[in-house]
Amino acid sequence: MSSSQELFERARQHIPGGVNSPVRAFKAVGGTPIFIERSEGPYVYDSEGKRYIDYVLSWGPMLMGHNHPAVREAVIRQSEKGLSFGAPTELEIQLADRICEIMPGMDMVRMVNSGTEATMSAIRLARGYTGRDTIVKFEGCYHGHSDSLLVKAGSGALTLGVPSSPGVPAALADHTMTLTYNDPEGVRKAFAEHGDQIACVIVEPVAGNMNCIPPAPGFLETLREVCSSSGAVLILDEVMTGFRFGLQGAQGFYGIDADLTTLGKVIGGGMPVGAFGGKREIMEQIAPLGPVYQAGTLSGNPIAMAAGLATLDVISADGFYQPLFQRTEDLCRGMEQAARDAGIPFTTNCAGTMFGGFFTEAGNIQNYEQVMACDTERFNRFFHLMLDAGIYLAPASYEAGFLSSTHGETEIETTVEAARSAFAALAG
Ligand code: PMP
Repeated sequence: MSSSQELFERARQHIPGGVNSPVRAFKAVGGTPIFIERSEGPYVYDSEGKRYIDYVLSWGPMLMGHNHPAVREAVIRQSEKGLSFGAPTELEIQLADRICEIMPGMDMVRMVNSGTEATMSAIRLARGYTGRDTIVKFEGCYHGHSDSLLVKAGSGALTLGVPSSPGVPAALADHTMTLTYNDPEGVRKAFAEHGDQIACVIVEPVAGNMNCIPPAPGFLETLREVCSSSGAVLILDEVMTGFRFGLQGAQGFYGIDADLTTLGKVIGGGMPVGAFGGKREIMEQIAPLGPVYQAGTLSGNPIAMAAGLATLDVISADGFYQPLFQRTEDLCRGMEQAARDAGIPFTTNCAGTMFGGFFTEAGNIQNYEQVMACDTERFNRFFHLMLDAGIYLAPASYEAGFLSSTHGETEIETTVEAARSAFAALAG
């Protein structure tokens, strides 16, 4: 049995920073990342067998908890027939049909292998469809690591302090307009000045890459309105929120009609899957039907499709979401109370099955600037106290937390008690 410390040292020999995705490296919070050996339900186990209640959940996908038997069995069954064909399968039809049935405004859908591919392709499609180049995104939102979107991006890029990465041509970044989240007036102004050049607005309907920021009333509605009146495409990036707010995504939850939607994470049940889809008129522009090119050797991979279908079966059951929403709320209220009792200024945002905690005196955290003003040092200490107590939170104060249906009352109580001790230690 190797310790995470030993594994991290070995990993750094041949893997840049010892990780295959930057935020895993614990650079923001300091210390050594835990190396995971296995997982079950709400728990992950590190390489030395220590158990943690997991609120990262592979950064969102494991909505039904880790290693769900229905998904595992679907994957095993499908893998007996072969791993990849590069040719159409009935499974792809089944998953596309299911997604189009349940997601509002989804007439057609194309499978890809990651959220990054989904957003990158949706943007190319929006540009091809409108014949315009400018895209609008919001400060602190993250939509994957493609060039056009790595402009003032959130998540790992934000944590590492490289909001605009070297390697992104200035000419490309010129076509990306970055506005303030939850600021409808700023959006109206940008559209009044540049509306006829804007191909699309891409937005996280609930931002989960600058901690957890729900949309203020009227914000998403304004985006819908300005896109409709200027002929721009509204892309709701539901890679994170898709299936975390009910079957119809955040767009169903908030009643917003998207032109294009991007999906990922939950849709693959833990396998590498992304998808983009939406209005037929726009989707018909994609090759081979239309001229906008997009392709993928492993896209629609049969194992991934089987995992996605099994996931949708489980989460479609009556009563799947309500207890999950309730426990997310219980966790937030419990942590807030524990912080109050210890005299630590702390607030939470709770949205669907996502949550965020903020070390701040301010009440209502609505945008990136407010997130940046929170006490990061205090979060980092809190993170390590929780980790020591067997609670695995996202290793950066800019990331949302996630619940699964396997996080029961016991796990919530254990987490709140650990938070109580951690807040007391911070106060002492
Ligand atoms: N969009 C959003 C909203 C995301 O949260 C992420 C990843 N966290 C992505 C896109 C990119 O997805 P992937 O990491 O699968 O490329």
